[in-house]
Amino acid sequence: MFKKILIANRGEIALRVIRTCKEMGIKTVAVYSQADVNAMHVRMADESVCIGPAESTKSYLSIPSIISACEITGSEAVHPGYGFLSENAKFAEILGDHEIKFIGPSVSHINTMGDKINAKNKMVEFGVPCVPGSNGAVNNIEDARITAREIGFPVLLKAAAGGGGIGMKIVFDDPQLETLFFQAKSEAKKSFNDDTIYIEKYLEKPRHIEIQVFGDGKGGGVYLGERDCSIQRRHQKVLEETPSPGVSAEEIKEIGEISANAISKMKYEGAGTIEFLYEDKNFFFIEMNTRLQVEHPITEAVFGIDLVKEQICVASGEGMSFSQESLEPKGHAIECRINAERLPTFSPSPGNIKEFHSPGGIGIRMDSAIYNGFTVPPHYDSLIGKLIVHADDRQMAVRRLARALDELIIDGVYTTLDLFKEILNEEQFKSGEYNIHWLENWLTDQAQ
Ligand code: ADP
Repeated sequence: MFKKILIANRGEIALRVIRTCKEMGIKTVAVYSQADVNAMHVRMADESVCIGPAESTKSYLSIPSIISACEITGSEAVHPGYGFLSENAKFAEILGDHEIKFIGPSVSHINTMGDKINAKNKMVEFGVPCVPGSNGAVNNIEDARITAREIGFPVLLKAAAGGGGIGMKIVFDDPQLETLFFQAKSEAKKSFNDDTIYIEKYLEKPRHIEIQVFGDGKGGGVYLGERDCSIQRRHQKVLEETPSPGVSAEEIKEIGEISANAISKMKYEGAGTIEFLYEDKNFFFIEMNTRLQVEHPITEAVFGIDLVKEQICVASGEGMSFSQESLEPKGHAIECRINAERLPTFSPSPGNIKEFHSPGGIGIRMDSAIYNGFTVPPHYDSLIGKLIVHADDRQMAVRRLARALDELIIDGVYTTLDLFKEILNEEQFKSGEYNIHWLENWLTDQAQ
């Protein structure tokens, strides 16, 4: 087992990884930017290294600085968390060159899945159902037109290197195509330095259902149920729950086994998520994330498994502690992503936390790195905490969540807390009959 792990991240996820390391008796090294001198992950780690100024390109995204921090501290492995360098194949490769273990899949798996066109091709090979769309990249407007007509409008233009919903354009008819095609290309170029675009059928009322997978790197692969992430704003997840209120256990078993089979065949190592859209009882693959997801705690809650611990065990060569047969989900879990943002515009609201009270009691987990007096810096994403509840069934989980939201106090910055209170009161949420457009439409109605 590793003796010392460096966590190449910040905020709640850095703290979350540190917690598991402490429980495993592994020493931790935090890295931080000058804006994070007083951050909780820095306080809680055994050692810490300042890796640069506030700007993430010069700190959390600086591969040379992080490698140096590993060398100085004698760290044997790096946990990348999510975001930042977590899906950067070059980072994993350079760590390998320095004989430092990247806690995650192989460089080649990160590379394959990081390009959504390659990822789709790979999944087709393993019999995973995909969204109908172009056969690979669409290089010019003529091809885009032919493909869009073949698939049938509406279609979605997507960036092969995409993430965070960037570069995605819905096209409803032929006349719109040209403008949006070039817009998508230039957005993709700007954000990912890669303007490769492909086309998918735009599904009009799907749920976002993702399967948590785990591989031992030697051909063993399992799935740990699903997460329903259909409550979204601008293609970004806001609230997640498991099990999904809109998909049957039999359907999950079927797509779960297909996903686990793909993981086994690939000899995938560690945690991953295979994302699907689900419409009219069919699953369609959209992408695979080769890292721990923000929403992983709801899976941990229902399976009683520490996914970070399993990641570390697999990376160290000790292997996974569970098999498909040993997995038995219990109850229902929901997560709310609490952002320092001002409603109704969702504009970022960094600043000083004047008061913070975390809810507690049975079935409550608060993953956050804020504290009284902490200043949320303006340089990073606005997620300041995740409230996770677990209960015997969905109805009880919703009640528990309402109770916990009432108890949670964050003063000093604006937050999205009230949004969740309102969502819980909506009939469509209560009945579980929502799709990926529900929240967006609801927000539009509220604004009128
Ligand atoms: P990103 O990597 O940018 O997050 P994804 O491919 O994971 O992009 O898709 C993010 C979200 O965008 C999905 O959860 C869904 O809401 C929407 N989306 C993606 N593909 C489609 C599609 N073919 N039809 C309808 N919505 C889609």
